[in-house]
Amino acid sequence: MRAILPVHATAVYVGLGSNQGDRRANLERALERLAQVPGVDVLAASSFHESELVGDGPPQGAFLNGAVALRTTLPAAALLAVLKQLEVQAGRVLPAQPNHPRPLDLDLLFYGDRWIDTAALVVPHPRWHEREFVRRPLAELGLDLETLPRWQRPRVAREVGELWSVTAGWLAGGCTIGLVPTMGSLHEGHASLLRRARAECDRVVATVFVNPLQFGPGEDFAAYPRDLGGDLAVCAAAGVDLLFAPDVAQMYGDAFASHVAVGREAEGMEGALRPGHFAGVATVVARLFAMARPHRAYFGEKDAQQLAVIRRMTLDLGFPLEVVPCPIVREADGLAMSSRNVYLGDDDRRASAVLHRAMQSAAERFRRGLRDRDALLARVRAVLATEPRAAVDYVELRREGDLAELPPGDVDGGRLLVAARFSDGARPVRLLDNLSLVDRVGNQAHD
Ligand code: AMP
Repeated sequence: MRAILPVHATAVYVGLGSNQGDRRANLERALERLAQVPGVDVLAASSFHESELVGDGPPQGAFLNGAVALRTTLPAAALLAVLKQLEVQAGRVLPAQPNHPRPLDLDLLFYGDRWIDTAALVVPHPRWHEREFVRRPLAELGLDLETLPRWQRPRVAREVGELWSVTAGWLAGGCTIGLVPTMGSLHEGHASLLRRARAECDRVVATVFVNPLQFGPGEDFAAYPRDLGGDLAVCAAAGVDLLFAPDVAQMYGDAFASHVAVGREAEGMEGALRPGHFAGVATVVARLFAMARPHRAYFGEKDAQQLAVIRRMTLDLGFPLEVVPCPIVREADGLAMSSRNVYLGDDDRRASAVLHRAMQSAAERFRRGLRDRDALLARVRAVLATEPRAAVDYVELRREGDLAELPPGDVDGGRLLVAARFSDGARPVRLLDNLSLVDRVGNQAHD
């Protein structure tokens, strides 16, 4: 007879699966071995059911799945180690490749009423409710699926304290954190940043905040498009863990008084046309860095000067994180995606493709051997001039990375940057775009 565990033992549910070898024997042996672990009482096992692989993976046979109810005195991390050990005993090679065939898969689904969110273990299991091969055995074990706990993903935080405490928990749990700061109205450009962060980090925080500090008087702060419902859907599809959407009072309380001063990277171009803009950007980004404490922060090359300012600030203020630049995502006709594009009238929308076309034309000449800075700039201006709807603010060719000015004469690469206004839609729209003269970012030696 097994010793009866003390009353404080925790009720646990474990999912079982196998699609390699003698599947039934693998599952039955796992249950026997589990029952022999000190500190574990097996209470009941479901019957086993066939299921096909969920998600993409190499061709493989169907699974046999079930679930088991236990009581245990083991801490969750120790029980997880036991489950991994049983997988290895069944012949599984760890670390396992995702979605590959396996003789045994044991998932810790629920551990009492505990919520655990670490790099090694997430409980309740984050996707239990999406999987029929988990739901069916749990129902068979007498659980009411509707009342079982499930994670809200993304979790939405409105308050700084909540962002702080969630990220503090992740850091304590050994997770890497990716941060994607945005002003919302998320489109495919933002989604590309979110997906990159999802692929590279254990946890992803997206922020949606239309930052008043980066708008000047007479700019479109009030009219900037806002769509939190749509943003939530984009974040959910990209697998974001936490969406931080504070109001202005959360970010800047009444006594708020400290601002980041920015330097050379913020001069000229947008900095000249929008005084104070980059100081406002740097201030909000510094605050988000301090609150979310990411290991990596993702920014679009679409806003190349902003990227240069943020890189400088990150180095100067010593934030211990990597700034990750992400390529521009464009519409089919070449227009760089932007939240403000919705305000373009139909004719301006058609005309706006000229920005990309003009830079491409100069890049093509560069590839064919044209090296003179001013001749390349003249080429961009000549194409832009064919489109009377575009009121050009500037055309520049700057050094890759820090966007320092290039002297007249020959260049061996660099980045073209343009800004132009279009005024025939619901409201005037300023569009920014840029293009590297060389294929690989930062490759100045290209010929
Ligand atoms: P915004 O919401 O406009 O402040 O943009 C948030 C982030 O998304 C910034 O890092 C932008 O550079 C980036 N982003 C915006 N549009 C695009 C795009 N078309 N392609 C890639 N990244 C983008």
